[in-house]
Amino acid sequence: MREKTKLAGVIGWPISHSLSPALHNFWLKQHGIDGVYLPVAIKPEEFSRAVAALGEAGFAGVNVTVPHKEAAFAISDLRDERAEAAGAVNLLLFRNGRIEGRNTDADGLAASLKQSLGADFLRGALGVVLGAGGAARAAVLSLDSLGAREIRIVNRTPQKAAALASALQAKVRAKLFAQGLGDWNQAANGARLLVNATSAGMKNSPPLELSLDALPLDAAVCDIVYNPLETDLLKRARARAHRTVDGLGMLMHQAVPAFEGFYGVTPRVTAELRAALEKALA
Ligand code: NAP
Repeated sequence: MREKTKLAGVIGWPISHSLSPALHNFWLKQHGIDGVYLPVAIKPEEFSRAVAALGEAGFAGVNVTVPHKEAAFAISDLRDERAEAAGAVNLLLFRNGRIEGRNTDADGLAASLKQSLGADFLRGALGVVLGAGGAARAAVLSLDSLGAREIRIVNRTPQKAAALASALQAKVRAKLFAQGLGDWNQAANGARLLVNATSAGMKNSPPLELSLDALPLDAAVCDIVYNPLETDLLKRARARAHRTVDGLGMLMHQAVPAFEGFYGVTPRVTAELRAALEKALA
């Protein structure tokens, strides 16, 4: 490392599972940039102090992951429209003594869905989002940006789905409906796209208990969980011949504006990058 080496990283607690270092370091090498991208483990109670210290140490910025996305929103001096809508920030850029907070999750998912299914796949159609946490919030914004006519938010705890729908309705064009998992058959009726934005199906978590029988066969299924890459949900969807989209696409696309902000180069999402990340996951 030299004085002009560009510094960036990802902060979370824990952070050892993060694929972001493999992703950004792939692009750094590909573009021959004198830069590093580090995983930084920060406890929740140390968040503000750590962010200030990273800025003072000359970091260009950091990605932010669980559990800091809301704290990152609160600490930002400026926020983009996506961050305001999401109420959470996954990218902090340190510029001219100020902290810029952005949220690239929704656009990352939209770019992944567009790449896999085509730009007009969801236009005027019905999408279903499973979950009501931060990722589900990004998924609703994403499906709205793809032109969905209606989005059904289905969550294990129905009250949280209702709260999410009422918090987002004024910010989106699509008509939002909230349902519990018990109403799944009704929610799946006529769906063109199902997005799992729950944490069910993640490595060391139980799989999502949801029969796909009610889902129209021309519906696509996206799981934003990427570890494992092929979740039980995607395996069952493929067995029914649904088109499927895994969570790695979202991860790669949400990182593009971050890399641009840190290092000043717009990177590309390619098959080589995917292969490198699949290797890192394995
Ligand atoms: P979160 O805020 O903790 O929300 C978790 C959601 O999952 C809640 O709605 C919860 O329902 C639901 N849930 C958990 N276990 C369940 C089960 N067994 N059955 C049914 N529902 C269950 O988490 P988050 O931040 O939104 O993240 C969710 C997932 O998205 C994580 O796996 C994360 O890694 C992934 N993610 C991926 C990307 C990417 O780039 N691919 C980006 C961001 C997040 P209740 O409300 O009933 O508890």
